[in-house]
Amino acid sequence: MDQSWELVQEGLFDYPLADRQRPALLANRCNKCGKTFFPKRNLCPDCFEDGNLEDILLDKRGIIYASTVVHVTSPVGIKAPYAYGYVEIPKNQVRIFALFTGSNPLSFIPGQEVELLVETVRENNRGQKIIGYKFKLIS
Ligand SMILES: [Zn+2]
Repeated sequence: MDQSWELVQEGLFDYPLADRQRPALLANRCNKCGKTFFPKRNLCPDCFEDGNLEDILLDKRGIIYASTVVHVTSPVGIKAPYAYGYVEIPKNQVRIFALFTGSNPLSFIPGQEVELLVETVRENNRGQKIIGYKFKLIS
């Protein structure tokens, strides 16, 4: 494959983005109970009914719910120190797991407002950029 990038996982977000398209996470929502899922699920674990899930885009703004700082480079090559945690998306009433970027890792404190972006998370051993989603503080 000659492509210079890969995705962390298929189906989490559209990439590459079209002109003026903003990054957004691809989720789905149960039409029966209203629960939102990211990553998408095939079946609502509460309702167990087929055909009730509707594709939606998550709002790009969230609030840090929990965070932690890692001081050791990850086995797959995410350089230390880095921060990750859970982001609450108030508009969609869902919490998602994410990496944080763009500021000192210690500055990602619960309660702060963050915004979605899509960028390189690391490189693999063939020099390909691995593209993932992250959140940065809204300044
Ligand atoms: Zn449901």
